[in-house]
Formats: sequence, structure tokens, C-alpha cells
Amino acid sequence: MAKRNQNIAKLQSGYLFPEIARRKREFMQRNPSAKLISLGIGDTTEPLTPAIVRGLSGEVSGLASTKGYTGYGEEQGMPELRRAIAQKLYGGIVPEDEVFVSDGAKPDTGRLQILFGPGRKIAVQDPSYPVYVDSSVMMGNTGAFDAGSGQFHGMQYLRCVPENDFFPNLGKAGSPDIIFFCSPNNPTGAAATKEQLRQLVDFARRKKSIIIFDAAYSQFIRDSKLPKSIFEIDGAKEVAIEVNSFSKPIGFTGVRLGWTIVPEKLKFDDGTSVRKDWNRIMTTVFNGASNVAQHGALAALSDKGLAEMENMVSYYMENAAIIKKALSGLGYETYGGDNAPYIWVKFNSGSWEAFESILEKAHIVTTPGVGFGPSGEGFVRFSAFGHRENIIEAVERLKKHLQENSKK
Ligand code: PLP
Repeated sequence: MAKRNQNIAKLQSGYLFPEIARRKREFMQRNPSAKLISLGIGDTTEPLTPAIVRGLSGEVSGLASTKGYTGYGEEQGMPELRRAIAQKLYGGIVPEDEVFVSDGAKPDTGRLQILFGPGRKIAVQDPSYPVYVDSSVMMGNTGAFDAGSGQFHGMQYLRCVPENDFFPNLGKAGSPDIIFFCSPNNPTGAAATKEQLRQLVDFARRKKSIIIFDAAYSQFIRDSKLPKSIFEIDGAKEVAIEVNSFSKPIGFTGVRLGWTIVPEKLKFDDGTSVRKDWNRIMTTVFNGASNVAQHGALAALSDKGLAEMENMVSYYMENAAIIKKALSGLGYETYGGDNAPYIWVKFNSGSWEAFESILEKAHIVTTPGVGFGPSGEGFVRFSAFGHRENIIEAVERLKKHLQENSKK
């Protein structure tokens, strides 16, 4: 038999969400009549909106006719969609030929590992979206910072906690090849300021690192002073790639449509173009995003579509405000929830303990913070993706359960 990829064997006890699903299944076996509410996994719940549905179904109808049928499209995406993304979402600060349309930010994150290959020094925010660490491990980009020698051997966790305003101390960040940075952040809900991103870009320029900036939640930023893209920062085009997605702002988690921006100015140490290599990868292992999904995305960028997107985001952000207000009212330290659909809450116990207790007593599924990295220990992530009535009921249960808990 063929040998197993030993990098996969190195992955720690499975991916976080399957573990939560396993515990949830066990709970349901023990409590078959329980009515669970999930504030856990960040999946969207609200139906697709009219203008976007018209875009999707118009393309489906077209495909049903000889005249309208299309097969493979351009691997980089439909030119009019690349243009619309560049103009409507980035106000023209990135040119359309640097926009690569894809089937989502997560698959692009995986393909970025192919771009950089094994043996790279990786830095990630701690806590962070688990895909950065796990895909790096799969590629063989594993290792640890050796505090004794001060040497950097592989992956490094950049501590992001309330004490540092969820922005890492870059003075301790060594010289990584690749820095994964997500803002607004999943799971902490922290949205970096312009000044913070300026520090990050300056750091990357000094250290000759490349930033993979995950902006999957940029549409949830409510504070107009906060940057929505790394490319709002001067000098970022020489050091950053941005991944982004329609999954959360328009409910495309199942439809699938994302994009990655690779600036022409970004070069490897030998002077070759990163964009050219990315194009080579996309034309080799990716055959273009679904034409139906691309037409849905194009409709989302029409005036009507943009208004619908704004309503959808506002709905989830109202959910976030409801959850945050309730937990803060109970005296919990809460973070995020203002410019991101996640509320990051400090508990006096370990994360899994808090998770289990909320599951057992309130029948609510959350996400244990430690699953996102060691600095997430003691925190629980609450997601604002849910139907309003479920959010209201969940909040009532939490109030009851957490009040009972605090009396003990
Ligand atoms: N990036 C972050 C930070 C996420 O939280 C998620 C999904 O939860 C994704 C990317 C996945 O995006 P997509 O659905 O476009 O693959």
C-alpha cells in the first residue's frame, strides 16, 4: 500500500468543528428531546435575497438553452465579475487583473499552501481560524519557536489577548516567511485599526514576509474609520495577499464564491512574480468558480444586491448586539460583536468546561476558544449567525443558566 502523508498524521486530534459535532451527537443521544440552539459554527442561516436569486436563476435558465449554455469559463473568473469586485468592493484600489475569483476563502487558503510550498516559517494570530495552522501542518510547515535559543523553527503563535488589544507584539515575532492575519478576526471579533495594520505592513516589509490577509468578514465592519482591506495601507501591495468571500455577507456558504487578490508588485526573493505563480496554480488545480455562483455574485454587486447585502449584514449584527448586551449585562467580559459577527467571552473556567456546561444546562452549542489556539483558553466564541427568534431564546436560556451558575 502507499504510505500515508506523515504531515496529516501530525494534525492534532482532528479539526475543531468535527469534535464539537461529536460532542453534540453524544449529547443528543443522551437527551433526544432537547431543542438545541447553535451559536457555534459560523454558518449563515438567512435565505438568499431576491436580486441575488434573480442573478443565480437567470444563469440557470440561460444554461438550459443552446444559446445561453456555457461550459468551462476563465479560471481566474468572469472579467465583469473581477471588474465589479475591484470597483464596487475595493473602490478601484486594486486592478481587476489582480482579482482571482474562486470557490471560497478556505479552498484558496489551502491552495496558497501550494504556492509557498513546504519548509516555510509560518506565523499565525493566536487564537485564529484553524485552517491556517492545519493547512500549514498538512504542507509540512510545522515547527515551534525555541525560546531558549531565540531561534525560529517553523510555526509561531502570535498571542492576541485583551491585554494587547488583540494585536500581537511584533517585536517578538521573529522573521516569518508567511503571516496569516485575519481582520475582523474569527474568533475574537477584533477588527484591526489602520495604525495596527500599518505596523503589520511595516513589519512585513522589514522582515521580507508575506501577509495572507483574510478579510472574509470585512463587510461586517460598521466603524467607517476601520480598514476593510489590507490594501488601504500604503506599501501593502509589496507584501500582502488578500483572501475574501461572499459566504458570510450574502449567505453563500453553500453556493460558494470567494476571491483572492494577488498584487502584481508582490515578488518572491528571487524577483519572480507571485501573481504569475498563483495564476499557474489556479489554471492547473482549479477550473474556475461555478458560472451560476459567479452570476449570483455579479447580482450581489448591483445596486439592489449591495443594498440586500447591507440588510443581511445588519440583521446578523443586530443579533450580535443582542448577544453581547445580554452577556455584558450578566457581568461577563465580552469582546468583538461590534464589527464582526462573533462575540468572544471570558469565562472563569476552561473553554471546554464552559462549552460543556452551556451545552448541558442551556442546550446551546458554542465554540470553545481554546480550539482556536492556546491563547483562546478560558474564552468561548458565540456566533451571531442565527434566526432572530433562536437568538432571543438562546439569550433567555443563557441569562437563566449563567445566573444560576453565578449564584453557586
Ligand atoms: N476565513 C475565515 C476567517 C472564516 O471564518 C471562514 C469561515 O468560517 C472562511 C474563511 C471560509 O470562507 P469560505 O466559505 O469562503 O471558504
